Amino acid sequence: MPGAARPTAELPAPLRVPFDDLFWRDEYDPIVETDAELAAIVERADLPALLAALAAALGDPSILEPGLRPPLTLVDTFGHPHGGMTSAQVERGREVALAALVRLRDSGIRSVGILPREQVDAILDFLTNGRAEYWPSLKHELGLAPDKNGAPDFVYADLAGSREFRTLVIGAGVSGIAAGYRLMQAGAPFTIIDEAPALGGTWWKNRYPGVRLDTPTFGYSYSFAQKTDWPHQFAEGGEIHDYLAEVADRAGITERIEFGTRFDSARWDEDASEWVVVLSGPQGTEERRFDAVISALGQLDRPHIPDFPGLETFAGRAVHSQDWDETVDVEGKRVVVIGTGASAYQIVPAVYEQVDHLTVFQRSAPWMIPADNYHERMTDTFDWLQRTVPHYGQWFRLWTLLLGIPGRFHTVTAEEGWSGVPLSVSAKNHEVRESLIARMAEQYRDRPDLLELAIPNYPPGAKRMLRDNGVWAKALQAPQTTVVSTGVGRITAEGVVDGAGVLHEADVIVFATGFKASDFLDGTDVVGRGGVELHDYWAGDSRAYNGITVPRFPNFFLIYGPNVNGVVAGSGHLMIERAAEYAVSAIGELLRRGARSLEVTEDALDRFVSWVDAGNRRMAWGQEYISNWYQNAAGRVVTIWPYTNVEYWAATESIAEEDYTFD
Ligand code: NAP
Repeated sequence: MPGAARPTAELPAPLRVPFDDLFWRDEYDPIVETDAELAAIVERADLPALLAALAAALGDPSILEPGLRPPLTLVDTFGHPHGGMTSAQVERGREVALAALVRLRDSGIRSVGILPREQVDAILDFLTNGRAEYWPSLKHELGLAPDKNGAPDFVYADLAGSREFRTLVIGAGVSGIAAGYRLMQAGAPFTIIDEAPALGGTWWKNRYPGVRLDTPTFGYSYSFAQKTDWPHQFAEGGEIHDYLAEVADRAGITERIEFGTRFDSARWDEDASEWVVVLSGPQGTEERRFDAVISALGQLDRPHIPDFPGLETFAGRAVHSQDWDETVDVEGKRVVVIGTGASAYQIVPAVYEQVDHLTVFQRSAPWMIPADNYHERMTDTFDWLQRTVPHYGQWFRLWTLLLGIPGRFHTVTAEEGWSGVPLSVSAKNHEVRESLIARMAEQYRDRPDLLELAIPNYPPGAKRMLRDNGVWAKALQAPQTTVVSTGVGRITAEGVVDGAGVLHEADVIVFATGFKASDFLDGTDVVGRGGVELHDYWAGDSRAYNGITVPRFPNFFLIYGPNVNGVVAGSGHLMIERAAEYAVSAIGELLRRGARSLEVTEDALDRFVSWVDAGNRRMAWGQEYISNWYQNAAGRVVTIWPYTNVEYWAATESIAEEDYTFD
C-alpha cells in the first residue's frame, strides 16, 4: 500500500447554471391552437398548476382570484383533483385559465424569466392557500423566484486562498450527485467514488423486472435539474437512471467520478486534521487524504438475506432483488419470491405471466394506497402543456411537492388511548384501514382464502405503504401462483420448505427481503477523534444530528443518514439536497473561519434525537408492538423522519454556532 497521498484533482471553475436549473428552457413552443382546442386542453389540465403558470408567464397574478384558492384538502387514500377545489371553483377556474391561455397565445409570450418577488409571493400565496410557512422551502424549488435558495453562498477560491481543502464523496447515486453539483457550483475540489462501474446508485443496482418509482415522478427530481418531459406518471427504473446520468453529464460531474472504487475505511488524523481514507479500486488498495468526507451511501445499499437454514445447499439460482441482472432467467421456471415489500410487489406482477410456477412467501401482507395511474404514461395534455406554457412543468412539479408537504401524516398519527390497537392507531387510521379493506374485498371477491391473507394485521402506515392499481391482487390470484404464509422453514437443494413442512420446488429463489437499512455505513471502518470507531460509537443505534453530523467525527457528513427518510409525506430529494447543501455550507464555514475542523456537540445530537424520537413515537410505525425495517435491533426508529419537509428545511437552514465546535 503506497503512503497516504493528497489527491490532485483539478480545481473546477464554479459552475454557473441559469436559474439554478440544468433543464431550464429559454423558449417554449408557440401556441397555434384555436380557442376551442385550448378549451379542451384546459378541461383536462390540473388547474392550480396551470393557473400559477399562466399568472407567472403573463406576469399577472391578478388572474388568481381569491375565490379560486385550492383548499388543499388532505388526502386519506384517493387523491383530490385540483387540490380539492369545489366544482364551482373548477368551473370558474377553467374560464379564467382559458382566457389567460388565449391571452398568452395572442401576446406571443414564449418565455418567462425571474419574476419580481411580490409576484412570486402572490402566486405562492394562492397555491398554498396562505400557508406562508411553506414558502421558504418551496422557493428552494422555484427557478423563477429571485430568492431561490440552495446554491452555495461562497466561491471556494475566494475563501480558500492558498489553502487546499479537498472533499471525498462516497457514492454516485442520487445523494452523491446532489453533493457533487453543489460542490461544482462552489468551485470546490472534490472526488466522487463509487464501487459500481456506473453511476446511479440504487437506480443502477436495482434492475429487477418491474422496477419503477412508487412515488409520483414529479416529486422525484432535483430542484436544480427540473426535467419535465417524463414519459411515465411513476417513472421506470431505467428512466431515472438515464436522468441521473444526464444530470451528471450536464453538470460536468461524470468525469469526477472514480468508478469501481470501494470505500473501505477512514481514520481521522488529528495532527493534520485530515481523513486518511483507504480505497480499493482497479489499481489495488491505496490511502488518500481528504479534508472532508461526505458519505452518500444512503440507507438502502446493503442487501439483507436472512440466515435461512440450508441456504447454501440450494441447487438453482438464488438472487437478492438488488443483485438481479440479465443472467437471471425466469421464463418457464419455478420461481420462489420471499418477501412482499416494495421490491417484491414490483417483481411479482412483472414475472408471473412468464413463469411455470410462482410461489410467494408472505410474512406480513402489505398495505397499498390506491394509484390507478401507476403504470400509465403522462397524458398528451400534460405533454402539450409542458412544451407550450412557459414553466408549466416546473409549476406542476412544485404543486406536487406542495401537496406532499402535509402528506398523509394525519392518517398515521396515533391517538392516545385509541381502542383499535393493534390493528389501527386512531379513528382516521381505522377509517383508512376499512376503506383499503373494502378495495381488497372487491379485488379478491372470488378468492376469500386470499383476501384473508391480503389483509394486514397491523395498522396502515406501520410499514411502508405500496401503490395499488390491482396488478398485485391479479398476480396472486393467477392459477400458477401460490401464496405461502406459514414462513420459511429451511432451504434445500430442491427449493424452499415452508413452516408447515411443505416443499416448494424452485429453479430460482428471489430474496426480496430488503436491506440492512439501520446499519449505516455497514461494512466500513470509520475511526474518528480519540480512536473511536463509528459503529462502536453508535453501538447499534445510528444517530446523526440532522441525519448529517456525528460527534467525534469532524468534517464527516452523511446524506440520507439516520432519521431523515420521509415515508408518508414530503420529497426525499429535498431532504437529500438539503443535507448536501448543509455539508457544502459547513465546508464554506470552515474556509471562512480559517478553521481546520468542525464537530457537532453531543448536546446538539441529543436534542435532535429526542425530537425525532418524540415524533416517531406518535406515528403508527413507532408503536411498541410494531416491527419494521425503520427500527434498529432495539426497536428504536433510526431511519425515519417524522416531520414535514418544512421542518427539515428550517433545521438545516444554517450551521448553527451553538451546535458545533470549530478548531
Ligand atoms: P422490505 O420492504 O424490507 O421488504 C422485505 C420483505 O421481506 C418483507 O415482506 C419482509 O416481511 C420479508 N422478510 C424479511 N425477512 C424475512 C424472513 N426472515 N422471512 C420471511 N420474510 C422475510 O424490502 P424491499 O421490498 O426491498 O424494500 C425496501 C425499501 O426500499 C422500501 O420500503 C422502499 O423504501 C425502497 N424501495 C423503493 C422502491 C421504489 O421506489 N420503487 C422499490 C423497492 C424498494 P415483513 O414485512 O414481515 O418484515
